[in-house]
Amino acid sequence: MGFSTDAIHGGQEPDLATGAVITPIYQTSTYAMEELGKHKGYTYGRTTNLTRAAMEKNIAILEKGEYGIAFSSGIAAVQAVLSLLKAGDNVIVSENVYGGTYRLFELVMRNFGLDFTWVDASNVQNIEAAIKENTKLVFVETPTNPMLDLTDLQAVAAICKKHNLISVTDNTFMSPYFQNPLTFGIDISLHSTTKYLNGHSDIIGGILVTSRKELESKLRYYQNAAGAVPSPFDCWLVLRSTKTLAVRMERHNSNATAFAEFLFNSKLAEKVYYPGLPSHPQYELAKKQMRGFGGMVSADFGTHEKAKKILNNVKIFTLAESLGGVESLINYPAVMTHGSVPKEKRDALGITDSLIRFSVGLEDIEDLINDVKAAAGE
Ligand SMILES: *Cc1c(COP(=O)(O)O)cnc(C)c1O
Repeated sequence: MGFSTDAIHGGQEPDLATGAVITPIYQTSTYAMEELGKHKGYTYGRTTNLTRAAMEKNIAILEKGEYGIAFSSGIAAVQAVLSLLKAGDNVIVSENVYGGTYRLFELVMRNFGLDFTWVDASNVQNIEAAIKENTKLVFVETPTNPMLDLTDLQAVAAICKKHNLISVTDNTFMSPYFQNPLTFGIDISLHSTTKYLNGHSDIIGGILVTSRKELESKLRYYQNAAGAVPSPFDCWLVLRSTKTLAVRMERHNSNATAFAEFLFNSKLAEKVYYPGLPSHPQYELAKKQMRGFGGMVSADFGTHEKAKKILNNVKIFTLAESLGGVESLINYPAVMTHGSVPKEKRDALGITDSLIRFSVGLEDIEDLINDVKAAAGE
């Protein structure tokens, strides 16, 4: 089936009891047993919920995987990945990942005996060179946040197979519409459903997708054991949203492309980071592993004053954390999303005091461009 057909129908049969076309919100914490030891397969809401199961199946299909395991936030899904490890294990991580992932790994989980090695994964040789005897897992985000560097997923999967490591990709920025890590041999694809999958800035959620049964069993066990599950209502909102994922992503992509070209040609910004610009150093890789370039654009405006002027004077872009919703957001990574990354590390990554990250939404592109022009005083 095509992507949109899967998005609208995948994982969703008319309701067994009533024929309701839309999967109901099974807002219940528990289920009646017919007699001792006899039930319909549902025992307790943390363990199983039909609305959640429908959403998990739907997103698994869109990611070309077998199993979806949902969590109450994207970062809870990241934490769940670490449950596959034990104290003493090493993880290789692409640098300039989502700031909250950095915080969880370095400032929380290091205290539990896990070890993290940060590498520039835009060159996959850096990953192979970093492998140690205790390395168990490789975690990459592509494109990265906020610098939009890419990692060659096929090459990472090959390295992980060769060294018997679990490979994980945070695919939040692309959504399953533009990139499917599992098709390149990656073991687990991770999403913050808060972003494009839900796309309307009204829930927090996360999901892992895999086709490997043994990984699914462990992650499913952990989902119930640790208990960070999404509510039935939030699952229902995500299910409603994936139905329009294809049309939304097309528009995010065309708006962001036009926006990046505007910034690039106007010379308003000193540097523009967008994988869809031929000037992006990994433009060829982008065309190879992605079917579009997404809605995220970062730009360096040269001075903090100029960046601040834009941040404080835009009217349509909203100054806020997060991304991937219908409305355009503007973000200042140095103090907002990446505030917990130390300054020396930020500077090394290019997250300067003049860098702005734009989540280009679905408004009319002329309005978005004029908004930034006016805010910059041009
Ligand atoms: C937002 C985000 C996360 C964390 O997800 P939450 O739903 O906010 O917990 C992880 N990775 C990326 C790339 C994100 O953008």
